Amino acid sequence: MTIFDKVKSAVSVKDAADRYGLEFDRKGMARCPFHDDHHPSLKLNEDYYYCFGCGEHGDAIALTAGLLGLKPGEAARRMAEDFGIGEDFKPSVMKQLKSYSSRVADERRCFLALSDYLQFLREWKTSYAPQPDIDEPDPRFLEACRMIEPITYWIDLLITGDTEQKNKLVKKLKEDGKLSALEKYLEEIRGENKSSEERK
Ligand SMILES: [Zn+2]
Repeated sequence: MTIFDKVKSAVSVKDAADRYGLEFDRKGMARCPFHDDHHPSLKLNEDYYYCFGCGEHGDAIALTAGLLGLKPGEAARRMAEDFGIGEDFKPSVMKQLKSYSSRVADERRCFLALSDYLQFLREWKTSYAPQPDIDEPDPRFLEACRMIEPITYWIDLLITGDTEQKNKLVKKLKEDGKLSALEKYLEEIRGENKSSEERK
């Protein structure tokens, strides 16, 4: 195993960003250090990063090299030192730890999205309840009626379910981008709420 492999299997892109001073939000978006970036357009994933502005991409070592102005080999050695990756480094244990922590992070992500959504649904159910003089109920009211029950059930499962049930649900939500679609949808709702508040 080369030093590159060791470093890459132990240090995620976000770990490297954290350590070497690149700030990012909870979605892993950062202002790109590779171009003059005013809005965060660099997306940090577990194993790689990608900039929607300039197209820069790479792994944790490339990111560190870019942030510190080092060559890849120098960056890898620096990381090995800073993250305590020695000769006796065992990737299997680290991998297990990482897969555990990414599972917990996924669960948290699902929980946050579902509970935010539930909050909107509950609001909608009262704010958009049909008025006697209007025949067509508001679509948001209908959505609330339809979705409150399953969403509540999933949230309960994430809180009280056993590991297998939680894993199954998280996998189901992540498959086909359901979770990201929900997160995007929530952003749109927040955006609409914000602009309607500004209009007031
Ligand atoms: Zn960029």
